[in-house]
This record gives sequence, structure tokens and C-alpha cells, in this order.
Amino acid sequence: MISVEEARRIILENIRPLKETEAKEMCSCLGRVLAFDLMAKENIPPFSNSAMDGFAARAKDLAGASRENPKTLEVIESLAAGYTAKRSVGSMRAIRIMTGAPLPKGADSVVMVEDTKNKEEFVIIFKEVEKGENVRYAGEDVKKGEIVIKNGTVLKSGHIGLLASLGAGKIKVFRQPRVAILATGDELVEIGQRLSPGKIRNSNAYSLYGQALKMAALPILLGIARDNKKDLEQKIRKGLSADMLLVSGGVSVGDYDFVKDVLKDLGTQMKFWRVAMKPGKPLAFGMMNGVPVFGLPGNPVSSMISFEQFVRPALLKMSGAREISRFYLPAIAKEDFEKKKGLRYFLRVILENKDGQLYASLTGPQGSGILKSMALANGIMELPEDMEVLRKGEKAKVTYLD
Ligand code: AMP
Ligand code: MG
Repeated sequence: MISVEEARRIILENIRPLKETEAKEMCSCLGRVLAFDLMAKENIPPFSNSAMDGFAARAKDLAGASRENPKTLEVIESLAAGYTAKRSVGSMRAIRIMTGAPLPKGADSVVMVEDTKNKEEFVIIFKEVEKGENVRYAGEDVKKGEIVIKNGTVLKSGHIGLLASLGAGKIKVFRQPRVAILATGDELVEIGQRLSPGKIRNSNAYSLYGQALKMAALPILLGIARDNKKDLEQKIRKGLSADMLLVSGGVSVGDYDFVKDVLKDLGTQMKFWRVAMKPGKPLAFGMMNGVPVFGLPGNPVSSMISFEQFVRPALLKMSGAREISRFYLPAIAKEDFEKKKGLRYFLRVILENKDGQLYASLTGPQGSGILKSMALANGIMELPEDMEVLRKGEKAKVTYLD
């Protein structure tokens, strides 16, 4: 049995990033990985402009202005966003200006409308401004020539906005890993089928499908293989044309757990098959002709936790992402929990924020077959191997799932 870190290390050491790229409309690139360093060809903003609705003026004309000692300027033009001023601002003059409109020539600052009173063609100003006040300078967000988004960045909404600002309609991203998903078990039936005695519905394939989609991968459902070597072999072969294969169930020590044997018979180089964790102890990992193969535990929660801990980083690396580590936060336990020494526990919790402090309560019974415990969770609490009991009020580290 190896540790969670060791398992992750072995997996990542075997994963090669996909090299192929594709050109995509940037709108559909949320979660995709940028395949080049994006250099700005323009400044953002492209011109200096007003950060407020107000009056563009010269700071020196307003020196000393206050409620008691207001200054009066002549208003020579009104400027909306999207247009340029026809006149320049001279001594004791101002241009009425809207947020986003280009700073007129001659003006060096903007007085907020709240600090003024407009009277016909004059404005009375009650406050002095500094040079540059309420001005957004050209290039203050992004400078022409700057690398704005680095190769290997997983694109978020903000990146999509930046791409739009820079006029990058189509961009080069790494292609999505194709992830084949195979459920195994004589007890499994598909969604539309009748539940005859002894049968349960295949749920793992679908939670894995969702998890893969969330990683911007392309899941491929291979259906259900029955618990015999022939069927397993046939269906596992199909999965080998994908970039990664996930087999669910059949990797434990039961009489009909043939997955490891079949993988070996097919020439998979098995790297390990047990990890010191709960849920998720039976986890097999191997490489078959360059394709990483995960034998995920059959229990529904174990399957999902194993995906989070091992498949997720593997997919990120395969997708070309530079950053694959996960963020931990401290949370205070709202109840006691006893655990076995030697295993890392992954508890499904509901995280609540009270006055800036996170609190974690269990999502109910924590059995590895209780899928609801996962569905209700917005966080996972990790308890270290050497811990035996977590007391209410103690801190532990959590990851946020949403
Ligand atoms: P196994 O690892 O194959 O022994 O399966 C462990 C437990 O997980 C058993 O109770 C199985 O019925 C259940 N299980 C296995 N595969 C699935 C699946 N695809 N969907 C739901 N439950 C499953
Ligand atoms: Mg089984």
C-alpha cells in the first residue's frame, strides 16, 4: 500500500501532456488550456479615459477649491463614451464627460459629478483634484507587447473577457483528452432498464462522466462489462483508443474482481493497486501502450474521490495545464470523528462561512457506498494518516469543490 502523495507522484510521472492543439472560437474555451503565450498587440484601455461621470479639467485651475471656496469653470462641450472631444480644455474651462469617454486634450483630471453643481454653461466645483485623478491611462490594464496570458493557463471567464478586449477571436488551445469510461459488474443495469432482484443501476459511469466534463475533457461511455475475463478484455480493448481509460469496479479482492488480471493479460504495466486512503483504497494504475489506465474502486464515493485525487491532476497534466496543485483552506470541525490510523480520510462536508471562519459539518453517514454524502458536499475534509480522532472545534484542511 502506498501513500496518496506517492500514488499521485507515480501517476504524474507517467502522464505525458498532449501536444496537439486546435484553433477554437474563444467563447467556447472556458476551462480549456491556452497553447501559446498570448502577447498583447494593443493597449487596454486603448486611450486614456474618464473613470467617472463628471468634468474633465486642469488640476491647477481647481487648486484650493472647497465647499467654502468653490471654483467656477466654463463648460465648453459634453462628451459621451464612444466619442472624442472636438475642443481642447483651456484655462478655467471644462468638458462635461461620461465614464469611458476619452480624456480631452488639455485636461489632466476629472472631477466627479457629485463634487459639482452644473449651472447652464458653467460648473461650480467644490473640491480640488490631483493631476490624473479619475483618469484611466492608456495601457494601465494591459501594455502593448506584454504577455497577458501564459501558455498552459486554464481559461476562466476573466481570461475570456481579456481575449475579447484584445480582439483575439480564435485562439490556439490544447486538444481535449478523450477519457473512456467503462463500468464493470454483473449487478449493473443501465438507466432505462428494469431493476430485477439483485441488480442496481450503473451510477459510477455517470458521476465519472460529469467529473471528466468538469475538467473540460471528452468523456466516452463504453457501457458495462460483465464480470468475466472475455467481456472485460473486449471492452477494455475498445477503451485503448482513447487518451485515458477509467475502469470502475472489479479491482478489489472479491472472487469476481478480474480487472487487474485482464489489464495484466493485455500487457498493462501495473504501477500500483492500493493506496492508504479511505474511501478509495483499491485503486489500480498502469500504463498500456502509452495510455494511462485507472482501475477505480467500485463503491460510488470511492470512485469519485479517487477521480478527484488522482484522475483530476492526471487530466490537468495531460491537458497541458501548468498549475495542477490544489488549494487547501482551514475549517473548524462541527462534530467529532473517529478514524483508523494509517489511512488518509476524505470526509464529505458542507462548508459554511461564519464571520470569515469556515466550519465543516459532515454530509451524514460517511460509508463509501453512500453517494448522497458526495452529492450534498461542497467540500472535502482531509484527515492525516496519523490522526485517530478529530474533535469538534479542531481545525482540519479542506478543499472547496464548487
Ligand atoms: P467492486 O469494486 O466491483 O467490488 O464494487 C464495489 C461496490 O460498488 C459494489 O457494491 C458494487 O455493486 C458497486 N458498484 C460497482 N460498480 C458500480 C457502478 N458502476 N455504479 C454503482 N455502483 C457500483
Ligand atoms: Mg464488481
